Amino acid sequence: MKYLLLLLPFISSVHAYTLNNNFGASFKSSSVKVFVDAGTVCPVNQITVNDLESLIDPAIDDFWNTVPTASLRLESGGFSQSISNINEGRLCSPTDEECISEADTAGGLDPMKGIIPPTKEITIACNNNNLNFGGSNVLAVTIPNKFSGKKIVGAMILINESSATFGNLSKQDKIGVIAHEIGHALGLGHTEDTAALMFYRTVNQRKHLGQDDIDGISYLYPISGDAFGLSDGLLGSCGTISTDKKNPPGNSPFFFTMITLGFYVLLFEVLRLLKSSKARSAT
Ligand SMILES: [Zn+2]
Repeated sequence: MKYLLLLLPFISSVHAYTLNNNFGASFKSSSVKVFVDAGTVCPVNQITVNDLESLIDPAIDDFWNTVPTASLRLESGGFSQSISNINEGRLCSPTDEECISEADTAGGLDPMKGIIPPTKEITIACNNNNLNFGGSNVLAVTIPNKFSGKKIVGAMILINESSATFGNLSKQDKIGVIAHEIGHALGLGHTEDTAALMFYRTVNQRKHLGQDDIDGISYLYPISGDAFGLSDGLLGSCGTISTDKKNPPGNSPFFFTMITLGFYVLLFEVLRLLKSSKARSAT
């Protein structure tokens, strides 16, 4: 038991990445397009749809398309068909009943503020519904909002229009935020590794992925075969990026807690066997 406790910190530091869904959901296809909603407006952040679209190529080519150990290949899809409530709608995971019932006002969906319909692949838009963000320090929020079994079909990235925080960033930092949000759309949660793009807090002038991001995306999009899932649960969680260091947005680390526990049990068993074989050879 003494050995086991000594090993705990060592094993816990193997990786820090988490998954955005408790069963390790990823897109079925390794080829995923990223769009900007053609009808979105971002007057508070003072960016145009063309500005937004120009962030996609660097966000994918300088970050997620640079991983030789992952099968994932992202591509800009340009502009997608406009969604009518994109600028005010509530972004709900299909399994988040509380979010869905809150958006269902007075017994019927408000046509302007109801639930944003599920999308295909990844779509970026601006949105001023405070309920989506929970604070002006949150730059953007991302939720996979359509699943097929354990696979992601579509995800939505919303830029927070309730403050100008995103618009005030440099172009490089805007690219970093979009790349971070694409990471959530692809299925990654937050990490506590400060060198990673998926660290929950913005880090100025980030220009490439960290090793932890590379490990996470290679796990979700392996070169051959699909990533595996251990549970049938489908609790899509909300991926956000914040400027608030004290209150990191939530993660879903359950999956890796179980994997780590598995390691401990295995190690304990090996140590026990070693000990008993030593005891035998001493006699
Ligand atoms: Zn985030």
